[in-house]
Amino acid sequence: MKRHEYFPHRGDRSYAVAHYDLTLSYDVDSNQLRGKAVISAGASADLRELRLDLSGLRVTKVAVDGTNARYVVKPDHLLVRPKAPIKAGRAFRVVVAYAGRPRPVPDGDDECGWEELEDGVLVAGQTNGAPSWFPCNDRPDDKATYRIELTAPNGYYVVANGVCTSQWRSASTTTWIYEQREPMATYLATVQIGRYVVHPVDGSPVPMAAVLPPAHLRRYDSAFGRQPEMLAFFSRLFGPYPFAGYTVVVTDDRLDIPLEAQGMSTFGSNFLTSDWDNVRLVAHELSHQWFGNAVTASTWRDIWLHEGFACYCEWLWSEESGSRAADEHARNHWKRLAGKPQDLVLGDPGPDLMFDDRVYKRGALLLHALRLTIGDDRFFELLRTWVERHCYGSVTTEMFEALAAEVAGEPLDGLFDAWLRRRPLPDLPAVTSG
Ligand SMILES: [Zn+2]
Repeated sequence: MKRHEYFPHRGDRSYAVAHYDLTLSYDVDSNQLRGKAVISAGASADLRELRLDLSGLRVTKVAVDGTNARYVVKPDHLLVRPKAPIKAGRAFRVVVAYAGRPRPVPDGDDECGWEELEDGVLVAGQTNGAPSWFPCNDRPDDKATYRIELTAPNGYYVVANGVCTSQWRSASTTTWIYEQREPMATYLATVQIGRYVVHPVDGSPVPMAAVLPPAHLRRYDSAFGRQPEMLAFFSRLFGPYPFAGYTVVVTDDRLDIPLEAQGMSTFGSNFLTSDWDNVRLVAHELSHQWFGNAVTASTWRDIWLHEGFACYCEWLWSEESGSRAADEHARNHWKRLAGKPQDLVLGDPGPDLMFDDRVYKRGALLLHALRLTIGDDRFFELLRTWVERHCYGSVTTEMFEALAAEVAGEPLDGLFDAWLRRRPLPDLPAVTSG
């Protein structure tokens, strides 16, 4: 099947980034960002010119391997022309100095990226928001390690991906350094700035913390009280939690949906209740650490590998926590989905429908159908093997299909074709006693 790129205007396939070193200073009141990005990369083709995605910020200097380079700034990217072409296979380093007032970038009917809050900032990178705050090769399959240094006015708490390795305070500002040592896709890179306190959470197998306005602390447990148990449960099912820790940021602002980032998720204060619709999202975002962050789809076309899995994890947690069984959720959602238009192809929904709720639910239903077909033992063995084999890497739907057939010891083409490539909603298999 011929497939189109969802965002052909993003990213550059002629090189891959190994590490981003970002040194940023930010003034909250004026929304002024000043940055220096040191990008260590390797050329996969001979490079006369390379493209870095960067949206709406002023570039003041570009150097390649220590030599000033010519560059052209376009509205959503930067074309860099090194003094001498870079040969395929060679490692190189680009330094970009930039500044400006970061703004969210358009993303379909919505927008994403750097966003000012009432008093602070959040960064929602998905899908193409990373270029709103740093120059990058904005492709989900180009994963790299990061060092993020950010200087902000005193009184604000700054969170970024990875481990905080250093923090110091001067008369008016505080500098925070975070290191993300496991490879990360650009859309998962984030910083969160607010008048927050940090609240360490006990009882989790890995360091867990909440970062939130002090006034919301007393309501934190309403939605997040069982998150340590959730993390232990998912670790048992899918293998060890893949990152150094997990932080939940709660903004004072209300948010429409929670935001996913590597080692972190961000919820609006409106999610702090014990309603199932909030608790299920706590499970959903946490499960993205395995499905989406550690194991990342190479292209957005395969987004069901993130969202279908995370939705199924909601149902798994429901059952584990003593609420409705996964099978009951599946049959209810099958009925609802059956009443909706059958015009979506799960394995290639297109950029406009990639976050349609039907992708989430049909993806989860596919997993349930697979579980009922191959039995619990092989199904969970498949999920564990999937994470183990591809942890910190990039994957495709075809890779999942091949592994499922391998673990099941039987061809599953009919099942995958019906769920992934045809439009009508397939029936769910009857419950077996597996
Ligand atoms: Zn999700």
